[in-house]
Amino acid sequence: MTGSGSGHPGIDQEPGDPAPARPAGHGAAATPAALARGGALARGDRTAGQGPQATDGQDADRGEPVGDPAGAAAGMPVAEVVVDIAAQDVDRVFHFLVPPQLVGRLQVGHRVTVPFGPRRVEGTVVGFAPVPEVPPERLRPILALRDPIPVLTPALIDLARWMEERYLCLFVQALRAMLPPGARGDRVSPAPRRWVRLAVDPAEARARARELAGRAPRQAAVLERLARSGAAGGLPQAFLLQQAAAGPEVIKALERKGWVVVEERVPVLDEPAAAAEPAGPLPPLTPEQAAVWRKLEPALRAAGSGDDPGAGGTAPGRPQEGDQGSPASTRAGEPAGAPPPRCGAGVPAPAGGGAAPQAFLLHGVTGSGKTEIYLRAIAAVLARGQGAICLVPEIALTPQTVARFRARFGNRVAVLHSAMTPAQRLAAWRAIRTGTKPVVVGARSAIFAPVPRLGLIVVDEEHETSYKQEETPRYHAREVALARARLEGAVVILGSATPSVETYHRALAGELGLLELSRRVGERPLPAVELVDMREEFEAGHRSIFSRRLLELMRQRLEAGQQVLLFLNRRGYHTVLLCRECGFVLRCPHCDVSLTFHQLASGRLVCRCHYCEHRQVPPATCPRCGGVALHPFGLGTQKVEEAARQLFPGARIQRMDADVTARRGAHEAIYRQFAAGRIDILIGTQMIAKGWDVPGVTLVGVVSADTALHMPDFRRQERTFQLLEQVAGRAGRGSDPGQVVIQTYSPDHPCLRAVADHDYRALFDLESAARRELGFPPFGHLIRVVVAGAERPPVERAAARLAAAWRAALAEAGVEGGSVTPAAPAPIERLRGRWRWHVLARAADGPALREATRAALASLRPHWPRDVLVQVDVDPYSML
Ligand code: ADP
Ligand code: ZN
Repeated sequence: MTGSGSGHPGIDQEPGDPAPARPAGHGAAATPAALARGGALARGDRTAGQGPQATDGQDADRGEPVGDPAGAAAGMPVAEVVVDIAAQDVDRVFHFLVPPQLVGRLQVGHRVTVPFGPRRVEGTVVGFAPVPEVPPERLRPILALRDPIPVLTPALIDLARWMEERYLCLFVQALRAMLPPGARGDRVSPAPRRWVRLAVDPAEARARARELAGRAPRQAAVLERLARSGAAGGLPQAFLLQQAAAGPEVIKALERKGWVVVEERVPVLDEPAAAAEPAGPLPPLTPEQAAVWRKLEPALRAAGSGDDPGAGGTAPGRPQEGDQGSPASTRAGEPAGAPPPRCGAGVPAPAGGGAAPQAFLLHGVTGSGKTEIYLRAIAAVLARGQGAICLVPEIALTPQTVARFRARFGNRVAVLHSAMTPAQRLAAWRAIRTGTKPVVVGARSAIFAPVPRLGLIVVDEEHETSYKQEETPRYHAREVALARARLEGAVVILGSATPSVETYHRALAGELGLLELSRRVGERPLPAVELVDMREEFEAGHRSIFSRRLLELMRQRLEAGQQVLLFLNRRGYHTVLLCRECGFVLRCPHCDVSLTFHQLASGRLVCRCHYCEHRQVPPATCPRCGGVALHPFGLGTQKVEEAARQLFPGARIQRMDADVTARRGAHEAIYRQFAAGRIDILIGTQMIAKGWDVPGVTLVGVVSADTALHMPDFRRQERTFQLLEQVAGRAGRGSDPGQVVIQTYSPDHPCLRAVADHDYRALFDLESAARRELGFPPFGHLIRVVVAGAERPPVERAAARLAAAWRAALAEAGVEGGSVTPAAPAPIERLRGRWRWHVLARAADGPALREATRAALASLRPHWPRDVLVQVDVDPYSML
């Protein structure tokens, strides 16, 4: 959705959705956030005066038609529906009547089809209006129920409200982020099955069967069979027809006579999970782990006081009769409870009456047994019939991680990752929604997994930037995890060896419980880290990619039959083509970045842009001065691989980066080979840095630590530290001690010194001092807005207007310490052919900053140029 369509400030709109005409009284409409805060109810009068639109029944294949609603208005309950149109002026709740067929069945979270102007659109039920402002006879009814299962839980809908407020996105965009694949357009529930039960008592059924025996023997057989079964819930239609040797028309005839009732039912939802049964005896916890567990366990015991998706949230009305106790009865068919409690849009309190939920930071060095703690915590909530979500960075979703969860929890684990096909994702989603797989392991978007009775959320490697979504809604999964856990009363464990400065700051402030594991399991030492000064290598006339020290250690380790990892965070061969006469650098024609050289299998070099798909052959002469002094510079992984092959011809060498692993399954295959000891030297980007536990690795070489240190990003030191600690953590996980060599031109940089000493606290103190000074997170809040378009002048003008309006809004609201930068070109000013300018605002008070931003965007909306896009990023990570 990002960047598509024409932008109104504040949203990335869809080009395909023409906004319907504005309803009368539009100005009075309340946002869902206001609704949630208990403000005015949204007006449902946009549908007024258009008359009911009778259904034609043609939806039967795609949804469940609910029949002719004409004249059925009085006394009908009213549902609040958010329609699937991402446009600012329809991003609110609309009211629709609940037709009689759905009374007692319709629940919060159900997907429905509703009339919308002349169209019919899909939408999500987000609540029920106890007292609609509009007379019910002026409302139109819901046309069809799309899916027997409420696709979203009430807690997820509250979470979407929170996201809308927190990330300045549309409510519907937040809801969409949560929908399973295919939810828009298709049903996601398991296919319902038809069941037939008697509408009369068995004795009467037998009497009728005797009457029918001569004229309609098959009808008689069906009645007889049902009477004989004695099951109040009846029998599955397919089974019944087979037993009575009859066709469906027989059932229809009996239904017309009023003797049987046919119902569609879906398999049972929300069955509590069975107790955990570990495969074998677990190792005793280390003393440090035991101390952590003592703090964690009471919180886990109090977990899960929150939302139960089956309770509450049904359309108020008459309970359906006769549905209880039937073998396939569903939660959807159960009688109504009270409407769901409304939670505030800010930080909602947990529903229900349990103890306060708790969140923890588990700060533990690599190999200290954090994962073992996660596994035990998950087992603890499973034993209480609750579910758990464990988020891992996409890159860590290796077969190894997954295998570890499966070994402990068997087929109760659902895995969600981006390489799955939509069908696989949908199957996993169903198993989660229905409670069959109560443990979810997945990347970022798994935070929205509809786990019933959520007891625990683990965010492993919580500092990872892959938890930040870089398209609308631009959420951070860690923040969403904390909000969701508060809503559902679940416990949160944020785990990391190198916590983000934000998270550690919260732990020191007491907002998170701090759990620490300072030693590796089995007292294995952390690897020794050496910094090698590459300036000295140069002075000594040693021009190799590898320093003398790194070469010496590589030789030693290979001789001893041990494994080596070489890390460089740049793929390709060379990173720039530079003219040594005029300084010209070959750039992408569509993006404001230099082109990278890649070597093809044939050995030829081709220039590629890492941001778009642009490729070209390198020019023979300088396009600017016409000289022949064009020369490639800069190191990429391909070049490192080539150098290693020349130096160690006998070694088994493999490269692993985004180019190599583009093929499905390649990542896994290389990992297997490496873990089995069939690769001596593995060269790679951050892909090899994370999560791997290969005991044979005793040497890690960081080819260059300098690029990361000089990124245009206020988090660059934190990121460099995290990356290097993580790479270093791959060494010495087995019985042989590990060694790390970091090559750099800045060996005295305090960030690298902190890595050499494995001193997280030194890094944290360094960073927090700098950020306090600048008012950057966690000492202040940032919002970045990127303005983009095909032509530079309108983009520049629009960015300047935005900066002025934003500044005025902050001043007007009196936001303390608020400031707005002047509009400026983004560091990558052109990207995929679009010009990009940006403006940043900063303030100590996050909610006030967001409110002022909303106001500024709203004030710009009426006169915003149609072809200039706006992307709002709250708590931005990328500054490029
Ligand atoms: P981390 O997640 O902090 O990197 P892990 O949980 O993966 O650490 O533990 C590192 C290694 O130590 C793993 O091989 C794990 O099986 C093992 N381990 C963890 N806890 C224990 C324990 N209490 N006793 C024995 N081995 C353990
Ligand atoms: Zn490009």
